[in-house]
Amino acid sequence: MARVELRGVRKRFGDVQVVHGVDLSIADGEFLVLVGPSGCGKSTILRMVAGLEEASDGRILIDDAVVNERDPKDRDVAMVFQDYALYPHMSVAENMGFSLRWRGVGKAEIGRRVRQAAEVLDIAHLLERRPRELSGGQRQRVAMGRAIVRDPKVFLFDEPLSNLDAKLRVQMRTEIKRLRDRLRATTIYVTHDQVEAMTLADRIVVMQGGLVQQVGTPEEIYDRPATTFVAAFMGAPA
Ligand code: ADP
Ligand code: MG
Repeated sequence: MARVELRGVRKRFGDVQVVHGVDLSIADGEFLVLVGPSGCGKSTILRMVAGLEEASDGRILIDDAVVNERDPKDRDVAMVFQDYALYPHMSVAENMGFSLRWRGVGKAEIGRRVRQAAEVLDIAHLLERRPRELSGGQRQRVAMGRAIVRDPKVFLFDEPLSNLDAKLRVQMRTEIKRLRDRLRATTIYVTHDQVEAMTLADRIVVMQGGLVQQVGTPEEIYDRPATTFVAAFMGAPA
C-alpha cells in the first residue's frame, strides 16, 4: 500500500516553475531518497508533502487521503532539517518532548517516548544536558529524537547531514542506516550526496531541473542509468 503519493505535482514561484509534474509513490515502511543537484526542487517537494508550501497543481495523498488543503500539523509527518535549531534553555529531554507537550500528550507518556527514542539514538545518558554541552553529532541525534518521539506516519529529512564535517557525516550516515533498519518507518530523505543515496535508499529518485529522471533501487540506478544525466551525476565522485 502507498503511504504517500504525489500525482502530477507542480510548483511555481511567481512565473517560474520549479517542479514539473512529479508522480511518486512511497510504500509503507519504505526509505525513499530524493537525490539531485542543488536547486533541482528536492526541498520544495519535501515542503509540499509537509504542507509548508502549497502545490500549484496536482494532488498529494497520505494513506489515500488528499492532504493538499490540510494544515501541516494535521498531516502526521515529522521533518528533520539541516539546521536543527534546538531550544538552548531546555534540556535534551525537554527538547525532545516539547512538540508532544503542546499536542496534549500526558507527562508520563512523554517521558516514556523520550526515553525510548533516546535509547534508540544512544543519547539516553544525555537527557539532562543542555544543547550547548553537546557535540554536533549529538545535537543531530536530538533533532532526530524530536521527530521519532512523535511516531509520525512519515519522516521527512532535508539534507540532515550537510552541516556536519566529512568524518562525522560518514559516522551519522551509518547511524541513520542503523535507525532505518530498526524503525522501518516510511521516510523521504533528501540529499545531494550520491553516496548517501546509494547507502540508505530502498529506492532512489534522481531529479534534475524539477523533473524526475529515474526511480529505482540503488542497483538499478547504478547498473542501468536511464539517462546520461543520471549516469554522470551518480557516477561522479562525491
Ligand atoms: P533543492 O532543495 O533541490 O536544492 P529547492 O527545492 O530548494 O532545490 O529549489 C528549487 C528552485 O526553486 C530553486 O531554483 C530555488 O531558487 C527556487 N525556490 C525555492 N524556494 C523558493 C521561494 N520561496 N521563492 C522563489 N523561488 C524559490
Ligand atoms: Mg534543498
